[in-house]
Amino acid sequence: MLELNAKQIQMGGRAASKSAALAMLADSLVGEGLVAPGYLAGMQAREAQGSTYLGQGIAIPHGTPETRDQVYRTGVRLIQFPDGVDWGDGQRVYLAIAIAARSDEHLRLLQLLTRALGEGDLSQALREAQQPEAIVALLQGAPQELALDSQLIGLDVAAADFDELLWHGAQLLKRGACVEPGFIAGLTQRTPLPLGNGLWWIHCEQAVLRPGLAFVTPQRPLQLQGQPLRGLFCLASIGEASRQLLERLCDLLIDGRAATFSEACSSHSVLEALGGEVPAHWPSQRVTLANAHGLHARPAKALTEIAQAFAGEVRVRLVGEAGPGVSVKSLSKLLGLGARRGQELEFSAEPDIADDALPALLAAVQAGLGETVEPLPAGGMAAPTGAAPSEPPAPRAPLPGARIQAVAAAPGIAIGPALVRIAATFDYPQRGEDAATERQRLGQALEQVGADIQRLIETTSEANIREIFATHQVMLRDPALREDVDARLAEGFSAEAAWITEVEAAAQQQEALHDALLAERAADLRDIGRRVLGQLCGVEAPREPDEPYILVMEEVAPSDVACLDRQRVAGILAARGGATAHSAIIARTLGIPAVVGAGEAVLALAQGTELLLDGDHGLLRVAPDRQTLEQARREREASLKRRERAHAERLRPAVTGDGHAVEVAANIGSGGDTAEAVELGAEGVGLLRTELVFMDLPEAPDQAVQERAYRRVLDTLDGRPLVVRTLDVGGDKPLPYWPMAAESNPFLGVRGIRLSLQRPEILETQLRALLAAAEGRPLRIMFPMVGTIEEWRAARDLTLRLRQEVPVDDLQLGIMVEVPSAALLAPLLAREVDFFSIGTNDLTQYCLAIDRDHPTLSAQADGLHPAVLRLIAMTVEAAHAQGKWVGVCGELAGDMLAVPVLVGLGVDELSVSPRAIGLVKARVRELDYRHSQALAQQALALESAAAVRALIGEVH
Ligand code: PEP
Ligand code: MG
Repeated sequence: MLELNAKQIQMGGRAASKSAALAMLADSLVGEGLVAPGYLAGMQAREAQGSTYLGQGIAIPHGTPETRDQVYRTGVRLIQFPDGVDWGDGQRVYLAIAIAARSDEHLRLLQLLTRALGEGDLSQALREAQQPEAIVALLQGAPQELALDSQLIGLDVAAADFDELLWHGAQLLKRGACVEPGFIAGLTQRTPLPLGNGLWWIHCEQAVLRPGLAFVTPQRPLQLQGQPLRGLFCLASIGEASRQLLERLCDLLIDGRAATFSEACSSHSVLEALGGEVPAHWPSQRVTLANAHGLHARPAKALTEIAQAFAGEVRVRLVGEAGPGVSVKSLSKLLGLGARRGQELEFSAEPDIADDALPALLAAVQAGLGETVEPLPAGGMAAPTGAAPSEPPAPRAPLPGARIQAVAAAPGIAIGPALVRIAATFDYPQRGEDAATERQRLGQALEQVGADIQRLIETTSEANIREIFATHQVMLRDPALREDVDARLAEGFSAEAAWITEVEAAAQQQEALHDALLAERAADLRDIGRRVLGQLCGVEAPREPDEPYILVMEEVAPSDVACLDRQRVAGILAARGGATAHSAIIARTLGIPAVVGAGEAVLALAQGTELLLDGDHGLLRVAPDRQTLEQARREREASLKRRERAHAERLRPAVTGDGHAVEVAANIGSGGDTAEAVELGAEGVGLLRTELVFMDLPEAPDQAVQERAYRRVLDTLDGRPLVVRTLDVGGDKPLPYWPMAAESNPFLGVRGIRLSLQRPEILETQLRALLAAAEGRPLRIMFPMVGTIEEWRAARDLTLRLRQEVPVDDLQLGIMVEVPSAALLAPLLAREVDFFSIGTNDLTQYCLAIDRDHPTLSAQADGLHPAVLRLIAMTVEAAHAQGKWVGVCGELAGDMLAVPVLVGLGVDELSVSPRAIGLVKARVRELDYRHSQALAQQALALESAAAVRALIGEVH
């Protein structure tokens, strides 16, 4: 995204002419490495087509579409010309903003600038500014207008209490594009202020995009702090934008007009009282913009000129955005819309001029506003979808023979054709032929999609996947949805437009129900919505190759991986993601080789491109030559043999050559995995991620359901120890039936034990179930994300209290060490706990300050970083000093290079994904404990993870 800052600005420039100024600007872009020298020709050509003068002494020179390939990086450079430069047509420029943009990123900048241009004349101030910071302040500092319109008013909403009413208010602001996720979390921290007569006020500055005021009233009277709650003003505030409005509101309340709000039955009266934007009932018409680069300066200017010929107001807004739109007569406001090709514009005009103005404006837009436009497919109209303005141009596909180093997510070598699965975009006409034809087309598409889904249901062996598709069938036949779509068809809409508009409306309604499970259904609705749209537009989902293929995706969600057919998918390649993301963990569990974080370019690969994935080393080879393929096949053979040998010996203990034993246990996510883990050589379960048991269910499991699940695991373990982690949700692991306030930084928010201690009844039920299931078998309970001694003590005390009611003989209590503070406090904690289990996934994340799911950084979140190893060493030392044992249950424990170091640091137990057990045991058996100890000490003294990996690679 293009941002302005002082460093980009050169003050006190002098240029004798426009072309000299352009040359200076181009030099500055070249000097910053943003463009090639040839870009100057593009800037000159652009000026020759039409001046880039924006108004108020500002010009925005930029290249032509033909010179976009001269842009290396998107960016801007500004030069202040205090003496002014003649920009033609008598206009003088005091500030020139040279833009290097490869696509439509500059529209975003225009939006920002036009906000400033909306207020008074800036030219004098720009000319006289002495410091670059003053220019930035002038361009950005104009107070933003407060959004207040009918879409921000919600009357008689179904809310059971203050929290729900507040949530509705925040939702209105979110839909009105005033706030982003994180606002509601901030809002809930604020104290509501009583205004009297049942009216309340609350405001928050966190995660606000533009200032806005929402007003909501409850359907039935509510109480807050013992007082009536009849209406709530919910302000997303930035700076001074709301001051005037507040003053006005106070005046109204002092005048005794509170009932205007508390008893309001139309948004009109509320808006009128507050001076908000009362919707005008003007005739309106819509048209889709086809200009390749959206409504940029030249076409916008053309539009303004047409509007100015009419003696009355003409407005335009983007369909789907809140508010009454902007005046078509104002160039800056028009640019501020940031309209892109494919977006629908709605023009409205005062009734007196509407009959003439609207057709003229529509015809001009359709004719391209002075530009040659590539007609949109299917009659020149298109879906209001497409790339966001600030989206960078799609990267090119890697060339045949390319070798891309990404992140190893699940081991193994996979070879196969690419099946690239990315969301398609659809072009279609808004208006249909006639209702009967469109109805028939839609009917056929629905039938076809229904038949496809039925086939999937019949051929899928996994019950949970069948259930998902069965739900899709029900949605497809939903009579209420069909009725709404029919009504739209009767109004003349095309089958595509009618269908997708209603599906989207239904999905939004589901989301608004404040129920996470129903909100998830919205995703299903959109899924079938797109399937049907694809059928109508003739856009087919890529056909699955006949042979096992490599699935290429943007990002792999855990649910995607869980739904994969292991027989069909040879490997997974994701553009984003890291090794400790939960999707990677699931891929490992399923035994599918996976490489993630490979970069967006892989999404541009042609379907069927031959790929070679090395999931052990995180390597991707695109269309490799025969020699490379043969070598990979040989390596795959060798690796298979190694696995086979390890598998044959999987039940033997893991004891080093010099007699040091290490316990190797399994990480499992559900009770059903236990038998397989034991079969694969597990000496116990070192980590039962109970949240996965919870996530599988549509509602919170009660004590009996949980008890059954835990008892099954203990039964199957047949006396082997079970280490259970209590519920670890929050952060990146939400629970559908446990709605949580959105947080701007969930990994640093209410997750793990923090959340459990806030809802002790859920933890208590889980603990009761665990204790009751133990029945004399060895049970170890540990608490996730413990960061303070108080958290540990609170969880321990609760467990010990319950143990008095449900006695258990063989119980140990411990904590996960996954927050650096726990490792640093290990000497104190070790006095009280029975054991530590080190969660290296989170410990690495928090130690190195790298989000474990970060699309580009997570490759560097390497648990072999000496800083992480030092935390592990401290933990082991502290535990052993108190005679306590230490396990490692993060993904590092299953990393073959890490095993000698962890063993050398004295870790007593390694808990890994069941499929890795045989290999880890085999690796331990190859080691010499004393050598490993020396190796670990050497590793601790190194300076980077790469150095540690190099050291181990050399020695072993
Ligand atoms: C860890 O953080 O290392 C861990 C085992 O927990 P999870 O991956 O489930 O967060
Ligand atoms: Mg963790």
